[in-house]
Amino acid sequence: MGWWADRKKKKEEEKAAKPVASEKKATTVKAADGGACECAVDKEPIGLAAADLGPLLPGAPPNGKVNLAIYWAAGCGGCDVSILDSNERILTIGDMANIVMWPIAIDGKEKDIAAMEDGSITVSMINGAVRNSENEHMVKLLRKKSLIVVSYGTCACFGGTPALANLVPGGKDEILDYVYTETPSSAAFQKKYSNVKPTIPQTSTTVPEGELTLPLMYDTVYSLDQVIDVDYYIPGCPPMQESISHLLKAVADFAYKGVALPPKGTMVGITSKTLCEECPRKKDYKRIVEVKEPYQVDTNNDQCLVDLGILCLGAATMGGCGAKCTRVGQPCRGCYGPSPDVQEIGSSAFTAIASLFPVIDEDPLMGEDKVDEIMSQIKDPLGYFYAFSMSKSLIRRSVKEGGQ
Ligand code: SF4
Ligand code: SF4
Ligand code: SF4
Repeated sequence: MGWWADRKKKKEEEKAAKPVASEKKATTVKAADGGACECAVDKEPIGLAAADLGPLLPGAPPNGKVNLAIYWAAGCGGCDVSILDSNERILTIGDMANIVMWPIAIDGKEKDIAAMEDGSITVSMINGAVRNSENEHMVKLLRKKSLIVVSYGTCACFGGTPALANLVPGGKDEILDYVYTETPSSAAFQKKYSNVKPTIPQTSTTVPEGELTLPLMYDTVYSLDQVIDVDYYIPGCPPMQESISHLLKAVADFAYKGVALPPKGTMVGITSKTLCEECPRKKDYKRIVEVKEPYQVDTNNDQCLVDLGILCLGAATMGGCGAKCTRVGQPCRGCYGPSPDVQEIGSSAFTAIASLFPVIDEDPLMGEDKVDEIMSQIKDPLGYFYAFSMSKSLIRRSVKEGGQ
């Protein structure tokens, strides 16, 4: 009996033990496109309710404003935008905090941070993974200057999509070579302008005016806590504004009322459930005989996406987002990271899904050839199952051995 079948049995036992009052009720869930889908769902809000910031706000805390730094390392900018997405709470941030650094929004300089006293920044919220020497320098500097460091967003927490670069066996040299010489536009550029050898960015170049430098790109992309000590984590790609307000509430209570901060290592904005347990879709634990993409299937119903043949990582993913993606027919790709029972999200999700392949000793539907055929339909398995978590995976990166 596979993992999924075990889970199904446990669920059925739990359901049988529950009174009828726990039956799910039909309600309407707003879809991201502004439409609505009818799902069988508990009458719970989607995700977390935003934290109440308390009657003392807005205004500076009694001991003066706190200092806040927001920094992006190797990220896409979405995490910064999510802070702006905090609606009217952004005014609260301005009321209670001096923003001493925020590259996307204000003109802060590294030398200004370096000149600050150690520990004089109350909170540094750092998004993005650590990908190059500048990222490493800045996060180490911010750690030194900060009382609290928050790993903000999936890239900072688990490596995120930048860490998929760890799957390139030749590391940075292979990536730079591909990007600057092999992509069609780069190849055309090199052909036209580089007569002797391809132009590829160097860490140091001498020009008549002096030496120009660029950060050194690393072969391996790291999560933030693989480089510096981290106090709190807020997963999500990007995090939800409710998570931001929960963090703000904790900092506000600390700054205004002297309330102790949450224990070090706390993850903000998660639940103790898996994403599957938050998801309103109904699971029938059907066997997978064909792997499908969402556009190939009608997902405008209340069926579990895995039952429809779509690979969904909800069984291995930490809950907290309220099943944002699956509610609108898209599979969970695991941006909240592994659930507490899971050591490694990619292999756990893959095992769960593989247990639905049609191989049962007493009832063999088909042979190994068919299973191989189904598995071969999974495009880019490593990229799919580790889309957000490669830095924290057991695999960590691809390597070349003996030239292979
Ligand atoms: S976690 Fe997502 S939104 Fe944030 S920087 Fe990474 S890719 Fe962008
Ligand atoms: S759609 Fe995904 S998250 Fe929802 S029940 Fe199915 S596997 Fe779990
Ligand atoms: S459903 Fe999965 S991928 Fe989508 S926001 Fe939630 S945790 Fe992230």
